[in-house]
Amino acid sequence: MSDPNCIFCKVIAHEIPAHFLWEEDETVAFMDINPWTRGHALVIPRNHSTDLLEISEQDLAATAAGAQRLARMQKERLGCDGVNLLNSCGAAGWQTVFHFHIHSIPRYEGDPLQLPTRPQQVDQDELAKIAAELRG
Ligand code: 5GP
Ligand code: ZN
Repeated sequence: MSDPNCIFCKVIAHEIPAHFLWEEDETVAFMDINPWTRGHALVIPRNHSTDLLEISEQDLAATAAGAQRLARMQKERLGCDGVNLLNSCGAAGWQTVFHFHIHSIPRYEGDPLQLPTRPQQVDQDELAKIAAELRG
């Protein structure tokens, strides 16, 4: 289950070089080529799936466990103060590589990362309406 046109399938196959942290049966982890902070890494399932909506539960669980493992490595070995996990789903959700992946981004006190958005104020009736829409 690999896609010949997919960059991350090529990383898995060693057709594109990468700095691997592990290469195991279910998941592979490697350094992000354009890190947001020191130690920014990605974990991906070996099986190609496009995104969060398509991935199997088993691959999702293995990749999520891999993200926790990465966060622990970043904390223990790089001494980060916190971690952000990020998954982007769909172009509108900022996804640029269409092989499911979770970013584990170490955070350091005073680092320059900032949230690109501010939470909105919304009234309770509107929240109730949206919750009903989501429940279906
Ligand atoms: P997305 O934008 O889909 O959430 O994340 C894709 C990530 O993959 C980006 O952070 C980008 O820097 C990283 N990336 C893109 N191409 C390569 C590559 O060839 N090798 C590595 N190691 N990372 C890549
Ligand atoms: Zn792929």
